[in-house]
Amino acid sequence: MTDQYAVIGNPIAHSKSPLIHLEFAKQTYQDLSYESILSPLDGFNLKVSELINQGYKGVNVTVPFKLEAFARCNKLSEFAKASGAVNTLIFNEQQVIGDNTDGTGLVNDLQSNLNTKLNGKRILLLGAGGAARGALLSLILENPAEIVISNRTLTKVHELIEVMSKSDVLENKPLRLRAANYETLTDQVFDVVINATSAGLTDTALPIPNTIFSVNCLAYDMMYGRETPFMQQARKCGVNVSDGLGMLVEQAAEAFYIWRGIRPETRSVIQQVRNLIKL
Ligand code: NDP
Repeated sequence: MTDQYAVIGNPIAHSKSPLIHLEFAKQTYQDLSYESILSPLDGFNLKVSELINQGYKGVNVTVPFKLEAFARCNKLSEFAKASGAVNTLIFNEQQVIGDNTDGTGLVNDLQSNLNTKLNGKRILLLGAGGAARGALLSLILENPAEIVISNRTLTKVHELIEVMSKSDVLENKPLRLRAANYETLTDQVFDVVINATSAGLTDTALPIPNTIFSVNCLAYDMMYGRETPFMQQARKCGVNVSDGLGMLVEQAAEAFYIWRGIRPETRSVIQQVRNLIKL
């Protein structure tokens, strides 16, 4: 029987996940279906129960349900625990297991696709919302020299650092994390600058100085499908720039691996989605 999977969100019509997962399935000869499911804003838990009863094997979870998905799980991966959010659910008998593949997706895109190794690098992470939380544990595990985190609301950065300091996975590891206001970033230079804010959605520029970008810096915006003011600023500074489309495909590949035990090839799929959104 064909194994059923889906992505749940609201809105969901824009989701590229069905295209990506069906491409992975074709490539790896997996007999599965994958569709987009719109859940009512107040009906996520019910929708998950319906899917479990219908025999679905798992789902991806997107905006705005990642926190509800976290709360729904009987068991959580360390990545889910560290981020407080779940983007991948595994239905195993009546158990609901939660994982978060965003961080692995980001790191795989940076290191494998963009050839930017993180070991020993100075990283600036902009933002402290769900995407930044999802990314941080994976970034720390790559042993960068330091990760500086800046956010409009600095208290959220302190909370994030507090969560990381309690992570079991990082028990004997130096965290090398530092909170910084945007205003204090002058005179600080980074090898990798990651924009995990949603400021690009409203075409808002972040108050970051041009001097943060080192000569060989990679400026990475987790957003995709548009050229954000952050990307424009970095381009003007002459550094390498990437959007977050590779992260989208890589986080899907990690979810696919969790469900199916097979790693799909991602580069051709990234190109396929890029052709589709024409950016
Ligand atoms: P959240 O709503 O959880 O967090 C938003 C973050 O952006 C907060 O840090 C917020 O700061 C900051 N922010 C919003 N507007 C502004 C502004 N005008 N100026 C400065 N800071 C601002 O969103 P997510 O973390 O879930 O998502 C962030 C981005 O990451 C989105 O664009 C999303 O599309 C992208 N993303 C991409 C993925 C991929 O696979 N490529 C995966 C997940 C997310 P404050 O705390 O002060 O409000």
